[in-house]
Amino acid sequence: MGNKVLITGAGLGGLTAALRLAKRGYRVEIVEKHSTAGGRLNQIKKDGFTFDMGPTFFSMTYEFDEFVKDAGIQLPFTFRELDVLYTVHFRGTERKYIIYKDLDKLAEEFKDVEPDFRKKMDRFLKSSAGFFYDVEYKVLKRNYDNIWDYLLAMARVPPRHAPRLWRSVWNEMEKHFQSREVKEIFSLVAFFLGATPFDTPAIYSILSYTELVHDGYHNVEGGMYKITEGLLSELKKQDIPIHYNTEIVDSRQNNGKITSMVDHNGKEWQADIFLVNSDAAWFRGKVLKHAAYTDEKLDKMQWTLAPLTLYLGINKKIDDVPLHNYFLGDNFEEYSKNVFKNSVTFEKPYYYVNVVSRSDPSSAPEGMESLFVLCPVPDLRFKSDWSDRDEIVSNIINDLSERMNIDLKKHLVSQTVLTPEDWGNAFNLYKGSGLGLGHSLKQTAGLRPKNFDEKYKNVYYVGASTIPGTGLPMAVISSKLVVERITKNHGLLHA
Ligand SMILES: Cc1cc2nc3c(=O)[nH]c(=O)nc-3n(C[C@H](O)[C@H](O)[C@H](O)COP(=O)(O)OP(=O)(O)OC[C@H]3O[C@@H](n4cnc5c(N)ncnc54)[C@H](O)[C@@H]3O)c2cc1C
Repeated sequence: MGNKVLITGAGLGGLTAALRLAKRGYRVEIVEKHSTAGGRLNQIKKDGFTFDMGPTFFSMTYEFDEFVKDAGIQLPFTFRELDVLYTVHFRGTERKYIIYKDLDKLAEEFKDVEPDFRKKMDRFLKSSAGFFYDVEYKVLKRNYDNIWDYLLAMARVPPRHAPRLWRSVWNEMEKHFQSREVKEIFSLVAFFLGATPFDTPAIYSILSYTELVHDGYHNVEGGMYKITEGLLSELKKQDIPIHYNTEIVDSRQNNGKITSMVDHNGKEWQADIFLVNSDAAWFRGKVLKHAAYTDEKLDKMQWTLAPLTLYLGINKKIDDVPLHNYFLGDNFEEYSKNVFKNSVTFEKPYYYVNVVSRSDPSSAPEGMESLFVLCPVPDLRFKSDWSDRDEIVSNIINDLSERMNIDLKKHLVSQTVLTPEDWGNAFNLYKGSGLGLGHSLKQTAGLRPKNFDEKYKNVYYVGASTIPGTGLPMAVISSKLVVERITKNHGLLHA
C-alpha cells in the first residue's frame, strides 16, 4: 500500500492529524467543504469587528503540548490561563456569582449560600479527581478494536466508580451540595458537552475537576482563531495542500477498499488511505451509505444541543461585564429538561455571552466592543422552523440589555446571526447539532462510532463524533488515537 492520505475536512481534528501523519512520512492532502479552514474553530470578520465563530475557551492544554511534540513543531499560538473562569447571573437578582479557579476565592463567593462550601467542594473534587485518574488512560485516551476490548477496559476501572454510570450530573451535585445556586452553577459543565445535567451521566462531573483544579480554562492570545492560523502556517511550511470549497459527496470502491472520494463537481480524489474529519456518523450514512447510519437511525441517536449564535458589535464600552458570562433564568430544572425538545418558549432564553474584545482588544474598533452570544436551542429534528429567528434574537438582546443595564439596540452597529440550519449547512453538522453526537452511555468510548470504518479497510475517522468526544482537546486526542491506529495498520514510514 502507498502512503498518500486524503483528509476530508480541515477542522481541528483534520489539521492536527495532517501534521502528525506528515511527521510519520505520509503524503497528506486535505479537501474542505467550507471556504476557510478550522471547521467550528472558525472566524467571522464584519464591519471592522472580528469574532471567533464557536469555541471561546478550553481545558487540557497539555494535549496541545503533546500534539506539537508529536508533530515535531513549536506551539504556533499562546495560551492564556483564565483566573475568573466565568460569571453566572440568575434572573431576578442583581447578584452575580464569580467562578474563580482559586478555591479560596471561590469559597468566599459562596460562603453565604452554601454552608461549609469549601469542605464540600474539596470532597466533590477529590472524588472527581479519583475518577479522572482511573479513566484517563484506561478508558478515555485509547483505541478500541471491538466491544470486548471496551468491556475489558471498563472492567479495569475500580468498581467504586460504578454508581456514576447510572447517576446523572445533577444527582452527583445533589449528593454533594444543598443550595440551588451551587448545584445549578457547577452542573453547567453538562452544557459544555452539549446536553443537560439531567441526562448526562455523572462520569462527566470530572469536567469540574479539570476546570477547577487540574488545568483550568484557557483561551488564546489574539483570539481562538490563532489556533487555526498557527496550524495552517505549519501546513504551509510542509507543503501540505488544502483544497477549499470542495465537498465530498460520494465514493468509489473496489475489493473492500475506497479507491477515491468524489466531490460535488464529480472530481475524483484518489489516495491509499482516507481520513474523514467530517462528522463520523453523518459521513457513514450520507456519503458511504452504511445501513447502520440511515437518516432514520441517525435521528434516533442522541445529538448535542444546537447553537443559535449572535455576533454583535456595539459602539460603546461595557467595562463592568467580564469575559465569559452565563445568563440563567429562575426555572433551571424545568427549562433544562424541556429546552432541547422544543417544549419551552424562547421568551426568556438562557444564554452565554463572551465579551470578545475584553480579551482581544483588536477585535473591535477603538471605544467599541464585540460580543458573542450562544443560546443553546433544539436541533432541527425538534425545531425545523426558524421563521421566528428575529423574534428570539430580539428577546435575547432585550433580556441582555436589561441585565447589563445598557440599551444594546441603540448601540448596535453590527449584527450577524447563525441558526442551527446555518451551522448545519456550513460544516455538515447533523440537524445543526453543534457539538456532534451526544455522550450518553450508549455513545461513550467503545460504544461511540469507531475511528475506523466497519466496511472499508482504508477509511478512518477523526473529530468530535468519534472517540473520545467533543471539544477542542478531545479533537486533538482524537487525532492522536487515529494516527496511532493508521500507523499500526499501515506502518510507520519514518518518525
Ligand atoms: C457554538 C459552538 C461553541 C463551542 N464552544 C466550545 C468551547 O468553548 N470549547 C471547546 O473546547 N469546544 C467548543 N465547541 C466544540 C468544538 O468547536 C468542536 O468540538 C471541535 O471544533 C470539533 O472539531 P472537529 O475537527 O471534530 O470538527 P469540525 O470543526 O466540524 O471540522 C470538520 C470539517 O469538515 C468539513 N466537512 C464536513 N463534511 C465535509 C465533506 N463532505 N467534504 C469536505 N469537507 C467536509 C467541515 O466543513 C469542517 O470544516 C463549540 C462548538 C460550537 C458549535
